Amino acid sequence: MPTAAFRTPVLVAGAGVTGSLTALELAHHGVPSMVVERAGVPPRFADPLLINGRNMELLRRLGLAAGLRSAGVDPDSPVDVVWARGVDQPPVLVWRLPSVTELRGAYAATADGTAPIEPYLLISCTGLAERLHRALRDHPLIDLRCRWTLTDLRPEADGVAATVIDAGAGRRHVVEAAYLAGCDGADSTVRRCAGLTMEKLGPSASHLTVAFRGGATAGRWANPSAVITGGSTVLTGHDGDLCVAHLPLGEDDEQAVADPAGLLARRLGLDGDPPQIHAVTQRAGAPSIARAYRRGRVHLAGQAAHLAEPPGNDVDTCIGDAVDLGWRLAAAVHGWAGEHLLAAYETERRRQARLDRELARRAGQTRSRFQRLVAAGAARETLVDILRQEAPQLDPAGTGPAGMAGTPGFRPPAFRLAGGDQFFDRLGPQLTLVDLTDDQGGWPLVTAARARGVPIRHLPMAGAPMPAAWSGRLVLIRPDQQVAWRADGPPPDCEGVLDEVTGVRHQLYENA
Ligand SMILES: Cc1cc2nc3c(=O)[nH]c(=O)nc-3n(C[C@H](O)[C@H](O)[C@H](O)COP(=O)(O)OP(=O)(O)OC[C@H]3O[C@@H](n4cnc5c(N)ncnc54)[C@H](O)[C@@H]3O)c2cc1C
Repeated sequence: MPTAAFRTPVLVAGAGVTGSLTALELAHHGVPSMVVERAGVPPRFADPLLINGRNMELLRRLGLAAGLRSAGVDPDSPVDVVWARGVDQPPVLVWRLPSVTELRGAYAATADGTAPIEPYLLISCTGLAERLHRALRDHPLIDLRCRWTLTDLRPEADGVAATVIDAGAGRRHVVEAAYLAGCDGADSTVRRCAGLTMEKLGPSASHLTVAFRGGATAGRWANPSAVITGGSTVLTGHDGDLCVAHLPLGEDDEQAVADPAGLLARRLGLDGDPPQIHAVTQRAGAPSIARAYRRGRVHLAGQAAHLAEPPGNDVDTCIGDAVDLGWRLAAAVHGWAGEHLLAAYETERRRQARLDRELARRAGQTRSRFQRLVAAGAARETLVDILRQEAPQLDPAGTGPAGMAGTPGFRPPAFRLAGGDQFFDRLGPQLTLVDLTDDQGGWPLVTAARARGVPIRHLPMAGAPMPAAWSGRLVLIRPDQQVAWRADGPPPDCEGVLDEVTGVRHQLYENA
């Protein structure tokens, strides 16, 4: 029998990147949550994660950007993507991602508002997880319970009742929540209990990630690097002398997994002292996506909702899910969300996951082709030519197509105000109406929103130095800094606009 009952507006299952940020986004909107995490310590993958500029903007809203930077790689150091025949071979081609400091300068000189106000961040997964857990523990609205495992859930009339096991105390509890966010990763219990199934998007693959030191690998490259060789990728320079190798496994390699140092030495052609193994993770599975992201009051986010091919470069997709789900759930808890607001979470984020998966698939194809050409003995010039033609470039900004900035469904152009402050820093935690009219013509919309209990900031900005790409004298911006609606004058039907923006009526962005 359960020994105690807890109540919370939102129960978050899993405190990985997705669960942590969902709880922090909820707290940003004043909504308390309970976060149950099966593990006793933050997850410790040795992999470096590259968070794009757009997501750093979203993390800046939560007050996290500066703290995370202090745990990231040296901002003055560029990052190299090195294509080579082997780790001991000279590079075939190097793509250099400018350093954070260089990009800050370049972004400041970009006048069209498309550049993010935060450059990308390269950070070890461990560093990110530790900082996020600290933020969870320090937040008065977040009740983090480590070594608590969600094992079952039951829909109720106005919420969800979840069974959780507290491994530390050896007790079972029931947690009653108005909403449940399933952020419990690839083998999601929430997904299984809610009866949500996955759709396969590609063939299964098996993969070994080995974190190691030594083997004379770390010192070979001056900058933090991803070295893509014939069949493997080695990541260096993100966490002292730690290296991480991603090794795709074939059927014949299954035995070799028992001896990761041997496999590593063979695959990378390491000679001399054997590498010291720090951690080994084996992953197998197919890229897949949940057929539905929600059932009733249960929602999936992050790797519970979509799985990339190993090693899974999907941290940006996961962050986007967390922010999107967090603000919508907060609106629902505060009572201003119409029925389409939460439904749109699935539409928007499922579409994004499919898009991100398509980009990842393309990158994977280039890697496979490079491997085949290397095996066939292709000349360096041929390899360079093909990489230049085919290989997708890294997009460290992630702000979307330039032509769409400021249109509904996209981010508004960024710019600095006369005093030097970033316009984005003036946006409210919930809705913001940017008002460029001379007579503060946005007031009727603001008043109508407030009368409905919709939190909205009125931001009069007549005469501000707007970038050329800015369009609309009244622009309504969502909590996740996307344009929800724009016009050149007060709407004849404020209630109609608010019905769409709050999800009372379905909102269709034509181009998003
Ligand atoms: C080995 C590995 C390497 C990766 N490398 C990269 C990379 O190079 N680049 C990149 O962009 N991304 C990478 N990723 C993915 C990246 O780590 C994820 O995007 C990120 O971790 C977000 O995932 P998540 O929070 O959705 O799920 P997870 O990180 O899996 O977090 C889920 C959390 O839920 C907890 N949990 C599970 N079940 C329960 C339960 N029943 N009750 C309570 N808690 C539960 C788990 O303990 C875990 O902490 C990698 C992932 C892995 C596993």
